[in-house]
Amino acid sequence: MPVKPSTPEDTFFAQQELERRRSLARAKEDQLRGEERRLLKERHWMRCPKCGMELLEIDFLGHKVDQCSACRGLWLDAGEVESLTRAEEGSFLGNLKKVFWS
Ligand SMILES: [Zn+2]
Repeated sequence: MPVKPSTPEDTFFAQQELERRRSLARAKEDQLRGEERRLLKERHWMRCPKCGMELLEIDFLGHKVDQCSACRGLWLDAGEVESLTRAEEGSFLGNLKKVFWS
């Protein structure tokens, strides 16, 4: 289980690791083309990345997010974290934003 960075140095290394993983993911994504990409999207659209069950759109703090119908995990689309954390400065969500999106 990931541990919350406790020092500016830990935060720096957590951000470096996140950027490294994003870069690897982009490289893999660039390798996928056309039909293979379409088939993957069709197979995984609105499916939980943890357990594969259906995702349902729910209201969370006034925002629409996706929740797994089985494991109850919450999944956010691009831009939803920024939207959720905008009104949550100083809260858990606001601090999460500082670590991963600053
Ligand atoms: Zn799930």
